[in-house]
Amino acid sequence: MNIKQSNSKHIYILGAGPAGLASAYTLTKQDESVVVVDKDSQVGGLSKSIVYQGFILDYGAHYLCTSPQPVLELFNEILGSNKVNINTLIRVYWRKKFLSYPPKIHELLSVLSWEEIIKVISSYLQAKIYPNASIENYHEQLSSRFGKYLFEIFFKDYIEKVWGISGKQISANAVARVTTNLFEKYLNIFIQLIHNWFTSKSFTSNVSSNQVLYPKKGSGQFYKGIAHYICSQNQQVLLDTEVVQVKHNSFLINELVLKNLHTGPEEAHKCRGVISSIPINLLLQKLSPSPPERILNLVKYLKFRNTILAYLIIEGNQIFPEHSLYINDKSVQVVRVTNFANWSPDILPNCYQTPLCCEYWCDFNESIWQLSDQEILVQAEQELREIGLLAQQTVSSGFVVRLARTHPIYTVNYQTALLEIQDYLKQFQNLQIVGRGGSFSYFDQDMVLLMGMSSAKDLLNSLKAL
Ligand SMILES: Cc1cc2nc3c(=O)[nH]c(=O)nc-3n(C[C@H](O)[C@H](O)[C@H](O)COP(=O)(O)OP(=O)(O)OC[C@H]3O[C@@H](n4cnc5c(N)ncnc54)[C@H](O)[C@@H]3O)c2cc1C
Repeated sequence: MNIKQSNSKHIYILGAGPAGLASAYTLTKQDESVVVVDKDSQVGGLSKSIVYQGFILDYGAHYLCTSPQPVLELFNEILGSNKVNINTLIRVYWRKKFLSYPPKIHELLSVLSWEEIIKVISSYLQAKIYPNASIENYHEQLSSRFGKYLFEIFFKDYIEKVWGISGKQISANAVARVTTNLFEKYLNIFIQLIHNWFTSKSFTSNVSSNQVLYPKKGSGQFYKGIAHYICSQNQQVLLDTEVVQVKHNSFLINELVLKNLHTGPEEAHKCRGVISSIPINLLLQKLSPSPPERILNLVKYLKFRNTILAYLIIEGNQIFPEHSLYINDKSVQVVRVTNFANWSPDILPNCYQTPLCCEYWCDFNESIWQLSDQEILVQAEQELREIGLLAQQTVSSGFVVRLARTHPIYTVNYQTALLEIQDYLKQFQNLQIVGRGGSFSYFDQDMVLLMGMSSAKDLLNSLKAL
C-alpha cells in the first residue's frame, strides 16, 4: 500500500454530495487544505443530474424547498444568472381526481360525500376536544392533528405505499417530507376550508405561491459549480475514489485508506480532520479499530427505503402543465411524477419530446425491485395511462435508475439507536458527520447544505482545541 505522507495537513471530506461540497466550500473559503473524495464519477450525490439523449435530468426534480440565507448566498454566488425562479404547479391525485395545491373547496366537495364531510368534521372536533395526551407513533400523531377519519381516508394508504410500513411503526416525530410538508400543509388547508365553508367565512390560503429556485441546467449544475470553485482554489476533488478504511488512534483519525476504482491499489492518506457524509452505517463499518459490537449492532435500527426512477421520453409537448404530481392512490405504485419539460427550457434538447420521471419507493425484497428495467418501464407507462396522464402520446424510449438506501426511515425505535451511535462518534475529536445518510436525517438539499457549512466551522473549532 502506498502512503501519502504529504497529505497530513489536509482535511478530508468523505462524499461529494451537497453536504460534503458545502463543507469543502466553507473550508476552502477559510484557506484550509481540502480533499473531497467520492466513489462516483461525478459530483452532486443524489442531487446530481444525468444526461440522456441530450436531456439533463435529476433524480426526480431537485429544487430547493426553502432558501435559508447562507444557502441562497451560495446559490447566487455559484450560479449567478444561471438559475430560474419557478412558481411550481403541483397537484395531488386522490380519488381519481387531480386536486389543486393549495386545495379548493369545490374540488373537495366533488371527492367527498355529505356523509364523509360530517365524519371529517366530527372526528376532527373529537380529536381537538379530547386530545391524545400520549402520542406514541406517526399514526396517532396525524390522527390527533387531523382527526381519525381524515387520517384513514387520506393518509393511511399513502404512508404504507411510501414507507412500506404502517404509521404505527413510524416514530411520532417523523418529519417525512412527502407526507409532512406537502400533505400536512394540504390537510391543514383542507380542514380550514371545510370549517370556513360551514361557517360561511371566506378563506385565503397562505400558500399562495410555491416559488422555488432551480439551476437552469438541472440540479447538478450547482454542484459542478461548487466543485469547480474548490478546484480553482487548488484544492482537490477525487472522483471514482472509494473510502475503504478510516483509521484512528484513541478517537483521533490520522489516516484514510482510499482506492481509485479504475486504476489504483489502495493508498493510505494522512489527514488532520474528517467530515463524513457517507452513510453512517458505512462509516461505522470502515472505522479501524472497529467500534464495539454493541454499536455495530445498533445499525440494524437505522433502516432505509430504496428509490426506483423510471424515466420515459414521450413524443409530444405540453403533456400536462404541472411540475410535480403526488399520486395518493393505492391502485398504482407510482408515488410522484415529475415533468422535467416544465422546469427549465435549458434542460431540453428539443421542444417536441417530454421527459417524465415516475418515482417508486420500495425495499429490496419487494417485487418491483426484482423486476427488469424493461418491466419497470412498461409498468410506469401503464400507470401513467391508468391515471390519465398519457392518452394518445407514444413513449419513444426510457431508462431506469435504482438507488439503494435513499430515504432514512424513522421507525419507532430509530432514535434511541441513533443517539447512542452519535454519542459514540462524538468521542472522535477530529470528525464531523453531516448529510442525509451521513447523519441519518430525512433532510433535503437546503438542510444538508446548511449542515455542511456549520459542521466545517465546528470542525475548525475542535481542531484548534487539539
Ligand atoms: C428521489 C429523490 C428525490 C429528491 N428530491 C429532492 C428535491 O426535490 N429537493 C431537495 O432539496 N432534495 C431532494 N432530495 C434529497 C436530496 O437528494 C438529498 O437531501 C441530498 O442529496 C443529500 O445530500 P448528502 O450530501 O447528504 O448525501 P448524498 O447526496 O447521498 O451524497 C453522499 C455522497 O457520498 C458518496 N459515498 C458514499 N459512500 C462512499 C464511499 N465509501 N466512498 C466515497 N464516497 C462515498 C456517494 O457517492 C454520494 O456522492 C431527493 C432525494 C431523492 C432520493
